[in-house]
Formats: sequence, C-alpha cells, structure tokens
Amino acid sequence: MSRGPRLVVLGRQGAGKGTQAAMLAEHYGVSHLSTGDLFRAAARAGTPFGLEAQRYMDDGNLVPDDIVVGVVEERLLGDGDIERGFVLDGFPRTEPQARELERVLEAHPLDGVIELLVPTEVVLERMEGRRVCEQCGATYHVHSPPRENWTCDVCGGRVVQRDDDTEEAITRRLELYERETRPLTDFYRGRGLLVEVDGVGDPHDVFERVVKAVDRLDDWSQDSW
Ligand code: AMP
Repeated sequence: MSRGPRLVVLGRQGAGKGTQAAMLAEHYGVSHLSTGDLFRAAARAGTPFGLEAQRYMDDGNLVPDDIVVGVVEERLLGDGDIERGFVLDGFPRTEPQARELERVLEAHPLDGVIELLVPTEVVLERMEGRRVCEQCGATYHVHSPPRENWTCDVCGGRVVQRDDDTEEAITRRLELYERETRPLTDFYRGRGLLVEVDGVGDPHDVFERVVKAVDRLDDWSQDSW
C-alpha cells in the first residue's frame, strides 16, 4: 500500500497553517497533528498537563520543549503515523524541537516543510477576526462565520474567540515566532526540505498551490509501508 507524505506546515500565527494542514491531511488521507489543538483539548478537559500548558498559552508563551516533544512523540509512535504519513501543524516551533523530531522519525525522515508566506497586515487582520470551534478546532472569521448562529458547521460545537487572540498575546506570539521559529526555515532549507508557498488569498486557491508543491516533492508516493 502506498503511503502519504510526511509534512510540516510552518507559518506565522494567522498564516493559515491550521486550515491548510487540515485540508492536506484530508487530501492525502493522513493524520493532522496540531499541538495547539492538543493543548487546548487537554486544557478544556482540565487534566493537570492541560492546565499547565494553558498557563503558557494564555500569556502567549511557548510550552517548554520537553513537554511538547513528549506529546508529539507519543502520538506519532502510538498511532503508526510515521509509516502512513502525517501533517504536523504548530510543531516544531524551535530548533531543539526540530532536532528531537529528527530523532523520533529516525529512518522515516520528513518529505517536505511547507512555509506559508503572508505579510504582517494580513496576519493581524486574520487573527483579530479569527473565531474557532471549541470542540473540533475548525476555524472561522467574523467575515466568514458558520452558517448558524456561531455553531460549528462541522461538529455543532460553540464557535468562540481564542483566549490567546488578544492584542497583547498576538503581538507576543508574533515576536516569539521571529525569534524562535524563524530560524527553522534556514534549518530546513539547509536540508533541502523547505518549500515556500504564497499564503495570501482564498484558502482554496492557497490549497491548490500547496498541493502542487507537495506533489512536486521527491517520490514519497512511490514508497510503500
Ligand atoms: P497554535 O494553535 O499553534 O497557535 O498554538 C497555541 C499555543 O500552544 C502557542 O501559543 C503555545 O503556547 C502552545 N504551543 C503549540 N505548539 C507548540 C510548540 N510546538 N511548542 C511550544 N508551544 C506550543
């Protein structure tokens, strides 16, 4: 059986990572693993781990590397995603996380890293208007709300503003991205994995560009598992 791609989607907050990663996972029939969604779900469930993660998230800080790596490793190894393929969204976010990911993947390296490029004005406008389903993480915008009264089209959950989408936390996260995550583009460029894609425009148009980029990557579709 042929496998799906092993991908990372990079981009600043509001670049459309979550939307594109979900569409990619569906298109290629692989898992979508969003560390932000995992932390938010754990926080909602009130687990000790979730409550600890929430402290960092609410302030717009990064959750410490060892906690994040532990969660991702458990998911990737537990569900057979390494062999089948996956789309990572929001991970890695620091160079130590990227090195740990290489260790976890071992003989099954990434096929590509898609970086969504979006200018700052667009990112700010998207984040301030962003609304998310508190149950399944589907994203909406004040200008493209769900069909019925802020109830999620996908799962019927409540669609709300994220606690960390305040102006102060947004500014802090964008600064952190430049400092901690931007160096990853050079890290992956050096490994020949980075593909830059223009992330401005209708999500479906962006998706067409992203799929073209993934299909042009080295022959992952010839592998079997
Ligand atoms: P996101 O939904 O990707 O914007 O993530 C929301 C929040 O979760 C971030 O602001 C961080 O506090 C935390 N988080 C998600 N992924 C990571 C990661 N890879 N490393 C550290 N913190 C993370």
